[in-house]
Amino acid sequence: MSIKKPILGIILPCYNEQEILETTSKQLSILMQDLKDRGVICLSSFIVLVNDGSKDKTWDIISKLSEINKHIIGIKLSRNFGHQNALLAGLKYSSTKSDCSITIDADLQDDIHVIEDMVNAFNQGNHIVYGVRKERKTDKFFKKQTAQYFYKVMKMLGVEIIYNHADYRLASSEVIKHLFRFEEVNLFLRGIFPLIGFKQKSVYYNRLERTAGETKYPLNKMIAFALEGITSFSIKPLRVVTQLGLLTFIISIILALYSLYSYLFLETVPGWTSITLPIYFISGVQLLCMGILGEYIGKLYKETKKRPRYIIEETRDN
Ligand code: UDP
Ligand code: MG
Repeated sequence: MSIKKPILGIILPCYNEQEILETTSKQLSILMQDLKDRGVICLSSFIVLVNDGSKDKTWDIISKLSEINKHIIGIKLSRNFGHQNALLAGLKYSSTKSDCSITIDADLQDDIHVIEDMVNAFNQGNHIVYGVRKERKTDKFFKKQTAQYFYKVMKMLGVEIIYNHADYRLASSEVIKHLFRFEEVNLFLRGIFPLIGFKQKSVYYNRLERTAGETKYPLNKMIAFALEGITSFSIKPLRVVTQLGLLTFIISIILALYSLYSYLFLETVPGWTSITLPIYFISGVQLLCMGILGEYIGKLYKETKKRPRYIIEETRDN
């Protein structure tokens, strides 16, 4: 049985990637040509480079590449909208012109040779194919630990995400169509895709080291990203607040009874500790709870405004 060759769009979000972009596009173009030659994908398959408001020469390089190569498309966002929104912009474009799209980081830390496995899985009827890291040998110790904890905490909070899967994945145009029905402004893609359903599969690979340029995810961005992920998908922290409040309430009743008892039956010494300790404790708890509530209120605030997730300034698709 001959399978219809799918049109594939490969999407790369690019933020200050001038050092690596040419190598990346060359490597991907070679791979894509090979897949076309061997009849794995349709000849009209293409690569989308999304410039996410880079401050360096990234857009110049992208415009040049798209001028020389017919299969390279450049999309310029009007400013930096963040990784997830850059991916969305690319997916939107790609889904109208292809059967399936693969998103991959511009540094090619993710093994591009599993692209063929992804396409094969798509041909077998899978609508979403997750690229999953086998091990994190090449990650720095710190990154590895924090990433590991992130997945564990997410799981504890009941968020269904694929362990060790980032944003290297294939999605069918059908699935992408449904993805755009999730209208939240704070879109955490790796949490949304499992919610879309359809037949899904994982393929495994080893992650390589970044060959040039710097990571665009320093610790503060990683924490923000993790918080974003948790508060977008789980209301458990709010429930913990309620439980904490209940616990404090019970403790304070016991303490009140105890102080009443000692006032009536024991010799009471006006105590400094018994006054100051609860003050510290309760204000600590209250501040924490207010912080958690604030996270969600902030989220609501952003969502109600319904601001656009990205703005395209220019598209280069010949
Ligand atoms: N990226 C982006 N916008 C941003 C930050 C990052 O488009 O605001 C892109 C970046 O160019 C890269 C991908 O997101 O293609 C992942 O970033 P990076 O490789 O720095 O993250 P890490 O692999 O260190 O987690
Ligand atoms: Mg990287």
